[in-house]
Amino acid sequence: MLIVKKFGGSSVADKEKIYNVAKRCIEDYKKGNDVVVVLSAMGKSTDHLIAQAKEINPNASKREIDMLMTTGEQISVTLMAMAIDALGVPSVSLNAFQVAMHTTSKYGSARLKKIDSDRIKNELASKKIVVVTGFQGINKFDDFTTLGRGGSDTTAVAIASALHADLCEIYTDVDGVYTADPRVVPTAKKLNEITYDEMLELATLGAGVLHNRSVEMAKKYGVELIVRSSLNKNEGTLVKEVCKMEKMLVSGVVADKNAARIAVLGLEDSPGIAFKLFNHLARHNVNVDIILQSVGRNGTKDISFTVAEDDLDEAVGILERHRNTSLHWENIDIEKDVAKVSIVGAGMMTNAGVAAKMFEALYNIGVNIKMISTSEIRVTVLIDEKHVNKAVQAIHEKFVLGE
Ligand code: ADP
Ligand code: ASP
Ligand code: MG
Repeated sequence: MLIVKKFGGSSVADKEKIYNVAKRCIEDYKKGNDVVVVLSAMGKSTDHLIAQAKEINPNASKREIDMLMTTGEQISVTLMAMAIDALGVPSVSLNAFQVAMHTTSKYGSARLKKIDSDRIKNELASKKIVVVTGFQGINKFDDFTTLGRGGSDTTAVAIASALHADLCEIYTDVDGVYTADPRVVPTAKKLNEITYDEMLELATLGAGVLHNRSVEMAKKYGVELIVRSSLNKNEGTLVKEVCKMEKMLVSGVVADKNAARIAVLGLEDSPGIAFKLFNHLARHNVNVDIILQSVGRNGTKDISFTVAEDDLDEAVGILERHRNTSLHWENIDIEKDVAKVSIVGAGMMTNAGVAAKMFEALYNIGVNIKMISTSEIRVTVLIDEKHVNKAVQAIHEKFVLGE
């Protein structure tokens, strides 16, 4: 079998953990498997590198920040190859250039386009454990890029797909995917299985356990994922197309504090206004989530929407630049201390009253809902950020633990 094993930062945080991972990889190797290991940077080292860059130059270019961040993964892969070697198994570490992992140009959030598999295959053929840097790529300018925070998961899925691996395991510091972040909701339950669609919603809505692009790619190329702990041998969670397990109404509750609300007041109430507004934002890659439009009165209307808090200043700047040219508005109102809380579950499609039950859970703890949006398999509400943990707990209790 060909196995791709990805280990996150906490799983390689120190010497002892590096040896623990090295031993797990060797176990598979000794059973006669080909083993490719994808690693994140050790512990919190990516955060430290970003902090160092900010200290030197708060306006450092994204190119230089990527160049710096990629060093984190280069350290972990080399140390891992040394550890495996010390345990008597031949190993080689490779970075994005050596493998040739091609991405789009955008520094900080590049997308993987193509991974050359020859170098990895040759190293496997010479019976080495191949240790590859996660999170990084190279663009058409021959520069390093990065895939966005948490992007090593996506590297692992892309390599598993390029090599037609039999197994892609994502090792982390929890036992699998839970019904809520187990650090926020101690009663959260581990899921044995989850569909790609549900996992993609959860990851996109803020469940940090998997990078959302990794799930998108796994679905596209049919790579089944196992999320499990590097600290024990428990079974983990299988992420795949269809699940046959017990159909829970809600598979997960998730919160995202990185949200802000913008209300554009006094827009002209005529055709094309929403198009112009959201088109300006889209052209600058500002993603919009929940959208609410008021009923028109006296020829004007209001449009409110949420963006990631990181994009707030840019979004407001764009709206201001277009005020009195293509867009006319009277006022902009913004709110930063808001958070999105969502429930996700394939079972919702065929069950009425799921949203009402979520709203009831919030009503019972006196939390006001500011905005609502729904899709086939999710309901999202916007609430005050200060209530977010108790809201997640109350909703989780209502759906997952039963009343
Ligand atoms: P790694 O460094 O291994 O990539 P991450 O910190 O990126 O680890 O992801 C694991 C973390 O994701 C867990 O420690 C947990 O707190 C968080 N998490 C958030 N939502 C969930 C969830 N629904 N199930 C499991 N873990 C979750
Ligand atoms: N080291 C990178 C980060 O912290 C990538 C990863 O962990 O997946 O975001
Ligand atoms: Mg991660």
